[in-house]
Amino acid sequence: AAKGRGRARLEQFNDELHARAQKRVQIESDLRAALRASQLFVEYQPQVRLKDGRVVGVEALVRWRHPRHGIIPPGDFISVAEDCGLIIKVGRQVLQESCRQLAEWTKLMPGRTLAMTVNVSPRQIMEPAFVGELRQILADANIDPATLCLELTENVMMSATEEVARLLNEIRQLGVFIAIDDFGTEHSSLSRLRDMPAEVLKIDRSFIDGLSSEPGDTAIVSSILSLAYAMGKHTIAEGVEKREQAAMLLRMGCEVAQGYFFSRPVAAEQIVPMLSKALWQPDTGRALHAAHF
Ligand code: C2E
Ligand code: MG
Ligand code: MG
Ligand code: MG
Repeated sequence: AAKGRGRARLEQFNDELHARAQKRVQIESDLRAALRASQLFVEYQPQVRLKDGRVVGVEALVRWRHPRHGIIPPGDFISVAEDCGLIIKVGRQVLQESCRQLAEWTKLMPGRTLAMTVNVSPRQIMEPAFVGELRQILADANIDPATLCLELTENVMMSATEEVARLLNEIRQLGVFIAIDDFGTEHSSLSRLRDMPAEVLKIDRSFIDGLSSEPGDTAIVSSILSLAYAMGKHTIAEGVEKREQAAMLLRMGCEVAQGYFFSRPVAAEQIVPMLSKALWQPDTGRALHAAHF
């Protein structure tokens, strides 16, 4: 009987694997169509300078308007796109669209700079044509390369290959900045961090969650901040949901933060009114959410 149960469990396991594989195949073919039919679009989440509440940048986050399943978040299709290679096209569309959008916003506010940070996948940047395309996209959009920042995860940054190092340096030479996303969640080697041409550390949301309630998280955030300061790098805290977190980050010396407390990722049109306001007042701690404009 035990053997029979074991077999049944194995079959169930196989069925699940099969269903999951089928789902991925389906996502892949739908995604191919989505790229042609312009179903992908970009939302933007404001990045707020903590000392005065001003929006100094935005992060571009891709979404998929699926004809049958509605809006699909990137967590449900980026890994499939990475596995099947479609990430190269997805990534190119996101980069083009967000640079075009940045140019539009920049025209609206002469004398001020806004930064655009864009997530890029390892496979996308390892594509031999990547740097050439990036140069072309910057030229077409006519934006200052220093207003663009590419977000890479720690894994890529820390992979010790010469190729990665060379590539990152080429990107830096274009004038584009590099940020390490989800910092602190994977393996970081301090010596590699020192040698890497990344100017920005994005402190992962998981540490911000426990800020002020979990002494361990507070200690981690404060060490990342002092490490960044000592290495001359900038910091952006991710996933700030509460006023106390924003206030504490400010006291701890973090420069910029993003999170639902300030604003969720929103459509491009909704960013415009935020550009001329402060999204929070550090002294009173009041958040002025998008809904209040
Ligand atoms: P990420 O780059 O670390 O982006 C932060 C994620 O946290 C976003 O989820 C954002 O909507 C969410 N978030 C922001 N503030 C808060 C908060 O206060 N609380 C909570 N709970 N969540 C918050 P999203 O948009 O679903 O993106 C998930 C991941 O998908 C991103 O993580 C990034 O790794 C990837 N991704 C998104 N767009 C792209 C893209 O264009 N290309 C690539 N390669 N990856 C992308
Ligand atoms: Mg990111
Ligand atoms: Mg992140
Ligand atoms: Mg992430």
